[in-house]
Amino acid sequence: MPVERTSLFAGAGARLEAAAEIAAVSGDTLERLRLPQSVLKVSVPVRMDDGSLRTFPGYRVRYDDTLGPTKGGVRYHPSVNADEVQALAFWMTFKCAALDLPFGGAKGGIAVDVKELSLAEKERLTRSYVSRIADFIGPDVDIPAPDVYTDAMVMGWMLDEYSKIARGFTPAVVTGKPVPLGGSLGRDTATADGAFYALGTIGRGAREDPRDGEGPTAAIQGFGNAGARLAELLAGAGYRVVAASDSTRAVHDPGGLDVAALREAKDSDGELPASAGEELDPEELITMDVDLLVPAALEDAITEENAGEIRAGTILEVANGPTAVPADAVLEEAGVRVIPDILANAGGVTVSYFEWAQNRAGLRWSAEEVRDRLRARMTGESARVAELAAEHDVTLRTAAYALALGRISAANDALGTAKAFGA
Ligand code: NAD
Repeated sequence: MPVERTSLFAGAGARLEAAAEIAAVSGDTLERLRLPQSVLKVSVPVRMDDGSLRTFPGYRVRYDDTLGPTKGGVRYHPSVNADEVQALAFWMTFKCAALDLPFGGAKGGIAVDVKELSLAEKERLTRSYVSRIADFIGPDVDIPAPDVYTDAMVMGWMLDEYSKIARGFTPAVVTGKPVPLGGSLGRDTATADGAFYALGTIGRGAREDPRDGEGPTAAIQGFGNAGARLAELLAGAGYRVVAASDSTRAVHDPGGLDVAALREAKDSDGELPASAGEELDPEELITMDVDLLVPAALEDAITEENAGEIRAGTILEVANGPTAVPADAVLEEAGVRVIPDILANAGGVTVSYFEWAQNRAGLRWSAEEVRDRLRARMTGESARVAELAAEHDVTLRTAAYALALGRISAANDALGTAKAFGA
């Protein structure tokens, strides 16, 4: 019987079908992946600074644990809902498998506008959420990490709260922690670093020769943790970052923005300074005439409506799900190369894996060791995805899903259950 799927999650599932055509995948595996393994919805009560009590909806979805304990971030955002968390958990399943990590996929979130909370309220919110989901997570079960509007400090609170409940210091229960609490060196920059390695391995698409000989150009939507760091790496590699945006505004300078100054202003004021360049309609950033477009904010930045107007040669998907499914075909038709989210932004979960491994082994790796391992993993798997895409003449997205699906299927089939019934 068909399962009713809606919006984001429906889109997530649609991409599996294309991948299943070229991957060696069993029917059992596809059947298992139709639905999330478990979905938890909780109320998160918080005592506010003024003495009142407020309750926020919280979620944790474990999508599939065929390859290992499930792994995925926790998002604090007003638009968080069950469908979004489910789609994000689905993407995490394929991201971990595409990078050959020993993890399944999960995601969590709270529907809350943290900009309205004090730091103490945010801490109480986090501890309340952990106490609600404590039976659902654990170093061998499900391991949260940061996502939009959660950071290392939030992970430190989660570790502390979980350790109290578990009656023992349990650093491997979350990743992306502060380094003094068992976090890994290199985790804070891992997502952007990984995206940069993926871009370096796969290369830019059709427009290998920038038009005016002044270096390639880039536009960054979402100048946050990942977007700002990537902008710095691109600028260091000779790109002109001509446009950037955050939730307050978009700025544009054809001569190239001063990325370091932008980052400093964003860190101190929490928003991009209007004085950085000409103000730009944030929608226009997506369709600018640049070599590289980097969506690094939220889902569905590129839709069926604006995809046809995109002039960038390559899209590097740092955000999760920035391209709506119907836009895939429009971009493919137009020859725009898309380095897909499950590969492009997998550096974060890869270094999260390194952090978890260090915690469990009681080791601390140097920044160089982390960087070398990340580079090797990202370049190796990016090259594999590119090869698969060329071999089957499919998009990089379909190839990344196929690589992941093949790995999940091999693990599933290794249990031999279908064979026992002669299937
Ligand atoms: P962040 O909160 O640090 O940054 C998000 C930025 O996007 C903020 O600057 C915000 O102002 C901006 N933004 C929000 N709405 C916008 C809009 N409509 N237009 C333009 N900008 C907008 O979050 P982050 O950690 O950098 O994550 C960004 C994206 O990358 C998310 O999709 C996240 O899931 C994905 N991602 C992050 C990591 C990680 O390790 N940080 C790992 C994998 C994927």
